Amino acid sequence: MRTKKYQLLIIYLLFFPLLLLERPVMGYSEIPPGNTDMYAVKQDTTYRAIALTFDDGPHLCYTPRILDELKKLNVKASFFLVGKLAMKHPEIVRRIHEEGHTVCNHSYNHWNMKRLSYSRILFEWRLCNEIIEKITGSFPEFCRPPGGNYNNKVLKAADHLGLIPVFWNINSEDCSGISAEKIVRRVTASLEPGSVILLHDGFENTLLALPSIVAKAKSQGYSFVTLHQLFRNF
Ligand SMILES: [Zn+2]
Repeated sequence: MRTKKYQLLIIYLLFFPLLLLERPVMGYSEIPPGNTDMYAVKQDTTYRAIALTFDDGPHLCYTPRILDELKKLNVKASFFLVGKLAMKHPEIVRRIHEEGHTVCNHSYNHWNMKRLSYSRILFEWRLCNEIIEKITGSFPEFCRPPGGNYNNKVLKAADHLGLIPVFWNINSEDCSGISAEKIVRRVTASLEPGSVILLHDGFENTLLALPSIVAKAKSQGYSFVTLHQLFRNF
């Protein structure tokens, strides 16, 4: 519970100033050219951007199925990939990238980084970065330490490599074995503009929950964007 509070805190401390400056992503084309009144833009009710994030892939079976589902739903998402798995399944990483989703760094080995030395942490981030760059042609912008476990060394090493740590403020708890209905309820009960939702590659119920999550969020006026769109396009 304490850890969750810290995760929530860090995402807001790190990114809330950016969100305040942010221009709408999905509603952007609706803004009359030359309208630079940021305050007015923030009042635009069409601006309710949220981001789905999938951790722990690429998974040989589930990631392609998630990608198929996202394509059907016309939704872009972000994938925090484990370097050693990315190396095993480069074709899936390439597909994630080519279909317009954001590819992010989830370390090389998926170890608890709080237990590692600074140089080992640096190695974990750097190796995953290089594997992703080799496959997609570009370095990731965002990283997330496995399990959300971090300390100053983890953040400092990420910063050294130009990586922005992104946690989440809605945990679907899809990896705890809960039903698809419960995943949908957990995700959609507390949505707010700028929400970052934690999901995982590798669970049938996550896949089953996706269409309802998207339908419910869209019915509340939310648009799904990648982390790149959420944090960079302003
Ligand atoms: Zn993970």
